[in-house]
Amino acid sequence: MIEPMILVVEDEPGIVDFVERGLRIQGFEVTSATDGASGLARALQEDVELVVLDMMLPKLAGAEVLSRLHAQRPDLPVIVLTARGELEDRIAGLDAGAVDYMVKPFSVAELAARVRAQLRTRSQESAQLRAGNLAIELVNRRVLIRDEPVRLSTTEFDLLLFLVQNRPQVLTRSQILRGVWGYEHDPETNIVEVYIGYLRRKLGAPNGRSPIVTVRSVGYRFDEERI
Ligand code: CA
Repeated sequence: MIEPMILVVEDEPGIVDFVERGLRIQGFEVTSATDGASGLARALQEDVELVVLDMMLPKLAGAEVLSRLHAQRPDLPVIVLTARGELEDRIAGLDAGAVDYMVKPFSVAELAARVRAQLRTRSQESAQLRAGNLAIELVNRRVLIRDEPVRLSTTEFDLLLFLVQNRPQVLTRSQILRGVWGYEHDPETNIVEVYIGYLRRKLGAPNGRSPIVTVRSVGYRFDEERI
């Protein structure tokens, strides 16, 4: 099993050593960079899943690394290390996209717990697709509307996922047949209409509006404003 790779960007060798050893004990792979410029380059080029970033760095300041990372890899979580825990540093960091803070001196067990929490949040987010009040959990194939589970058959789930993933595009009947049922040729049945009907009933909005909109003589589209 490959452990998540954490990049530590810090110029003080004592802290790098302490963080590296501590995170390895907790089961992470750790790599480090000792200045802002090389830290940024490695975070952008390498397969890093989280960055622990000091604010006071040579060559490129932590705040600058943070804002460039946020612009270029907005999904990459960054935990910022601040020397004094100054409020201004924290606000600047939050604005620039940091997800959490550690104030020096800190315990490496606490840092590891925050790293784990961030990685967990990210993996749950990436495994979930949201559209309006609808959430589709991709791994366990669950659908929730306003956090209430909706029971769908396998085909209904696949059809809903196909519509949601392709929103707001209008999908033709033959695109749906290919994408959901794998049919290259139209089997001349009303299977699409039948399953659209099932889904509409199950997703039924209280105001009677359905998020699955019929576009006459073209096909269907999913409108997340309607759910
Ligand atoms: Ca430093």
